[in-house]
Amino acid sequence: MSIEPFAAVDVIMAKRDGRELSTEQIDWLIDAYTRGVVADEQMSAFAMATFLNGMTPREIRDMTLAMVASGERMNFEGLGKVTSDKHSTGGVGDKITLPLAPLVASFGVAVPQLSGRGLGFTGGTLDKLESIAGWRASISNEEFFAQLREVGAVISAAGAGLAPADRKLYALRDITGTVECIPLIASSIMSKKIAEGTENLVLDVKFGSGAFLQDPERGRALAETMVQLGKDAGVGTVALLTNMNVPLGFAIGNANEVRESVEVLAGGGPADVVELTVALAREMLALAGLPDADVEGHLKGGQAMDVWRRMIRAQGGDPDAPLPTAKETQVITADRDGVVIRQEARGLGVAAWRLGAGRTRKEDVVSAGAGIDLHVKPGDVVRKGDPLYTMHTDEPARFEAALKDIGEALQIGEPGSAPEDTGPLILDRIA
Ligand code: URA
Repeated sequence: MSIEPFAAVDVIMAKRDGRELSTEQIDWLIDAYTRGVVADEQMSAFAMATFLNGMTPREIRDMTLAMVASGERMNFEGLGKVTSDKHSTGGVGDKITLPLAPLVASFGVAVPQLSGRGLGFTGGTLDKLESIAGWRASISNEEFFAQLREVGAVISAAGAGLAPADRKLYALRDITGTVECIPLIASSIMSKKIAEGTENLVLDVKFGSGAFLQDPERGRALAETMVQLGKDAGVGTVALLTNMNVPLGFAIGNANEVRESVEVLAGGGPADVVELTVALAREMLALAGLPDADVEGHLKGGQAMDVWRRMIRAQGGDPDAPLPTAKETQVITADRDGVVIRQEARGLGVAAWRLGAGRTRKEDVVSAGAGIDLHVKPGDVVRKGDPLYTMHTDEPARFEAALKDIGEALQIGEPGSAPEDTGPLILDRIA
């Protein structure tokens, strides 16, 4: 039996008492947790102590690098293309990765996107893509490289070998009330992105009712922390601080978000989804050395759509197959004349989740057709009887609870009233 250099309880007590941990302590803790020497209950206590007392920038960097070192590290040298990836901290109706990855790849920049599934009310990119007939989220490392070389964009599931310490820790945080903690979120996200091996990274850090961190200033602090971690690890990193008070676009769910993404790739789509897709693409391309790329031109001209179709086919999907629909639909109509003054993202995200678009436990299966189509946005004038939302589900018993959440998320004001000011879509850029 090997002798461990530290005792977990001492490390936990040091963090509990607000002391700064040494690099050796953090390296050991993460390694010992990955090996199963530190137990889940000890790591839970450590996560809570960190939640309450925070970490210094040096501790966060050590934690990130220790989690990178817990598994394999990918490397795209020899690919012959510059790599640029994007990560969003998650939101409601956030389907941006779908049009963004093929759009950026249409300029010859490789996008190696390792994504996750949704948990709770924010959707997961893989869940959305899995609504396309035949599409496979899991591919081998060889397939990943080949697709990156030939098509330029890959969106696939992160293998179990990438930052395994984070995988274990994130599952614990999820059930111990320790998710919303800047040092833990930053090290979790950045360990996976550094291990993924991308040369450049654009972070879409959300704030607002539908985001992890509702306060824009906490969002900014998270963005600054992650940008610094990326730079320290040699990854060109920029963050946009973006608004998640109102859902993005008019579709929340899985199949319906794919449909809306395809509209963007066809040169149309909702203005907010297009604005964010274009802004993030510009940042990814600028980091890759293409600051003047005609991003809108590749949406209007079909080049991005072309890569999308090849990307979907390369992973077994049929881009022409009809998307699944839910068994039941119910339309919610306006009960009076007026103006939509509030449409809160979190309530609509929770409603879509209740309809079956998201999961409660990791092992749950999501419904591809479940979700909500929005027919209005804040500022729209409505007449009594106008359709506001269409709910889709496979189990009609789910309508009632979703209806309650939507009712609380929506506010119709008197005719002539102004919508609630939730601020600009892109609040800031952090580089
Ligand atoms: N996404 C992650 O990967 N980790 C977090 O801690 C939060 C969001």
